[in-house]
Order: sequence, then structure tokens, then C-alpha cells
Amino acid sequence: MTEQMDAWAVDHPAPIDEKPLRQVRRDIPEPGPGEVLVQVEACGICRTDLHLCEGDLEPKRPAVVPGHQVVGPVVARGIGADRFADGDRVGIAWLRWTCGVCEFCRAGAENLCPRSKYTGWDADGGFAEYAVVPENYAYALPTDRSAVELAPFLCAGIIGYRSLLRANLPPGGRLGIYGFGSSAHLTAQIATAQGAELFVMTRGEGNRALARELGAAYVGETADRPPVPLDSAIVFAPAGEVVPYALEALKPGGTAAVAGIYLSDVPTLNYERHLFHERDLRSVTSNTRRDGEELFRLVSRLPVAAHVTTVPFSAVDQALADVAHGRASGSLVAAFSV
Ligand SMILES: [Zn+2]
Ligand SMILES: [Zn+2]
Repeated sequence: MTEQMDAWAVDHPAPIDEKPLRQVRRDIPEPGPGEVLVQVEACGICRTDLHLCEGDLEPKRPAVVPGHQVVGPVVARGIGADRFADGDRVGIAWLRWTCGVCEFCRAGAENLCPRSKYTGWDADGGFAEYAVVPENYAYALPTDRSAVELAPFLCAGIIGYRSLLRANLPPGGRLGIYGFGSSAHLTAQIATAQGAELFVMTRGEGNRALARELGAAYVGETADRPPVPLDSAIVFAPAGEVVPYALEALKPGGTAAVAGIYLSDVPTLNYERHLFHERDLRSVTSNTRRDGEELFRLVSRLPVAAHVTTVPFSAVDQALADVAHGRASGSLVAAFSV
């Protein structure tokens, strides 16, 4: 008989207060060819998990287990999986497979691969005691930080890092950040460690306090205009109404990047106020493995640390409700006693 494990699965997507996540018993997955089985020590909780629970992202698999910021040791390997040894610490992220042969994959833009697959959406993720991943999409992780500290970097960190690249911030430039959750607070630290001046516009007093603690030159409400024109802005809030504020805050030639996988509708833009003078509005779609590897190299060199609230595995649904209602600040991580 196959051994079983505890997991959280999305039954029917619904508003989080109607409890679409339920705790289930599942067979411990078997690693397929080229895959490794990871014992989950910690799994970060991401707004995308909330979008999956609530149906903002259409389900691709019935009763899927969300969770895509997984840290833990390799405990078993499928046929042909030889990149890691048993016991090696690895990370499982959102991007879990790309085709390797399409025009995007061949051009180094595997984040745009139309056949790409995602952890916790196309395949079961890390809100469980064990998870499998193709070894070529796992990240080798440092062992000098705890699993809980590292987990938020696997999505919040990687996506934030790609957003920073997409925002075209010049060295020493002025960066505006709209919305200050898990991804934003990691990205802010990377940018300031590299010399940027930080301006944070966000709802939530807890988020504003964290922004001040992390050295922001200016902290305001979402609709507040920063005191000086910005070189770049990143919209982390999943709210389309924030986009015009970000564009208006840019200097001529500036760039605004939208970090999220989901954004409510953007209101009508006025060409003169929001776009003219060569202001650019760009989206961010997932990430490449190269983005993730660059990020983990930076994390080991820069003074960057996630502000983590640890929650027990049994409280994953409650933690997602906290994300939905803006009660969380920094990063939330579900920890497992292993
Ligand atoms: Zn492809
Ligand atoms: Zn995520």
C-alpha cells in the first residue's frame, strides 16, 4: 500500500471566506522519470495561491494542491534523475516545465513558452508533506539560511527580481513601488542594496511601516504622488486602478512594470497624462530559470532578508484569508515539523 500524506486541495474555487481549500489525505507522489521527490520543510504562501483558490486563474486540474515556494530535501529520485543527491536541499518554484523547442524557448524567453507548466496549477504543489518536481526546474539552495527564510524567494523573490529587470531601473535611479507585500518588500531590498532610491505607495499601515523600516525615502498611500519624478515603477498591487498613478509618477522615458499574474481592469488611460513622453507600460510574465539562478546568487551576496510570519501547516487557509483581507505584512510561510 502506498503511504499517505496530509495536503490542502482546492475543491471548487470560491471566495476564500467560503473555504475553497480543504485538508485531504493523498498518496505520497512517486517521482517520475527525471523528477525528484521533495519532503516539504517550508512552503511560502503567495497571492497567486489565493487567485487559484478563488478562481481568478482558471483551474487546470481538479482538486489541485497549491503552493509553489517549496524548500526541502530531496528524498527520492525517479529514473534518470541524477542532478541532486538524496538529502540535497532544493527549491520548487512556479515554473516547472517548458517545451524547449518553441520560438520563445529557443530565444531564451522560456517564460513565454505557450506549453509551459506551473507548480500548484498544472501539477500538485507544496501545501503538502511531499511534492515532486522535474529536477531541471528545481533550484539548488544554500544551507546557511533556514527553509522558512528561503521559501519566499522562490516566487515573491524571483518574480520581483524579473519585475525589477523589466522596470529598466538605471543605476542609482528612483524606483516607485505600488503595493508592498511579500514580493515588493524583497524587491525593494534588492534595489536599495544596489543603490536605488525607494518610494513606496501602498495601502495598509503595516505595509507602510515595513517600507519605512526598509529605508524608503518616501512612503504614501496608493494614490499619493511621490515628491519627485520616478525613473521606474513596479505595480505589485493586483489592482488595475493603480496603473495610471504609477504612469503619472514617471519622468519622461520612464518605465512602469506590472508584476502580477492577475490584474483587475486598467481604467481608461489619457495619452498625454499617462503615456506620452515615451513612458512605457510593461507586463511581467512568470520568469526564466536564469532569473531564478541570478536571484539566488544575489541573495547570497546582498543584505536581503524576508520578513516572515510563520504559520503552521494546519493554518494555510487562514493565512490565505489574511492575504485576501490585507492583514498580512511581509511574507507568510507555512512550516512543517520534519
Ligand atoms: Zn517552449
Ligand atoms: Zn507566487
